[in-house]
Amino acid sequence: MTREDLRQYLRFYRDLGFEEIYQREPPPQAVAVLPDQPVISSTDLFSNLMSKEPRETLEQIVADLGECTRCKLHEGRTHIVFGVGNPKAKIVFVGEGPGADEDAQGIPFVGRAGQLLTQMIEATAAREGLPLKRPDVYICNVVKCRPPENRTPEKDEMETCSPFLFRQIEAIRPKAIVALGGVAVKTLLGTSTGIMQLRGKWLEWRSIPLMPTYHPSFLLRGYNQAYKREAWEDLKKVLHYVYG
Ligand code: URA
Repeated sequence: MTREDLRQYLRFYRDLGFEEIYQREPPPQAVAVLPDQPVISSTDLFSNLMSKEPRETLEQIVADLGECTRCKLHEGRTHIVFGVGNPKAKIVFVGEGPGADEDAQGIPFVGRAGQLLTQMIEATAAREGLPLKRPDVYICNVVKCRPPENRTPEKDEMETCSPFLFRQIEAIRPKAIVALGGVAVKTLLGTSTGIMQLRGKWLEWRSIPLMPTYHPSFLLRGYNQAYKREAWEDLKKVLHYVYG
């Protein structure tokens, strides 16, 4: 195996959510087979409708985040990458963390993975007859500062940063969340079940329907092209639910 083969191999398993490939993984947790449409209980609907608590605004959350030094990721960052899009979006996309392009511009998903994400959103919507564009949705990440060498965010970094993600989603209260890849799924659902088993199935974050799907970076790798179709299907389900 060449160095490049090894790199590809490790990336493949990282994309699948493995962080320590030298350890034997515990058997995956059982995952309930869920219906094609998310099921929202009447209790959830009632409490959503009755909630009188004034919602925090994204501006208030940005202000609270400030020039964050809460974890070590701040040391290498150029810009905090908070989030972008419609503060009243019906769909929130959650990625892992900024890469080099995002760090340079302070905007999530603007590099190659971002171009693919934009294309996936807009092309799937167009095919379904929806005039949905990237600025209509909201896009953010689990961690707001770029991990060195684009490594996977570490546990303490995710734990420190995720409350800001949760507040962002609560502020927007979208109709659906799309979790892009294993890190987003793990952070939002606290599950160690891999993305390969969860993708395409409706789950829930604080009573908001959540669809796990592949991370666009995973889909960019040449040997993962076959998974693109599944990601498109997942997105289609979300669009049908939200706008159908
Ligand atoms: N990958 C992510 O998870 N987020 C970005 O913003 C860019 C690439």
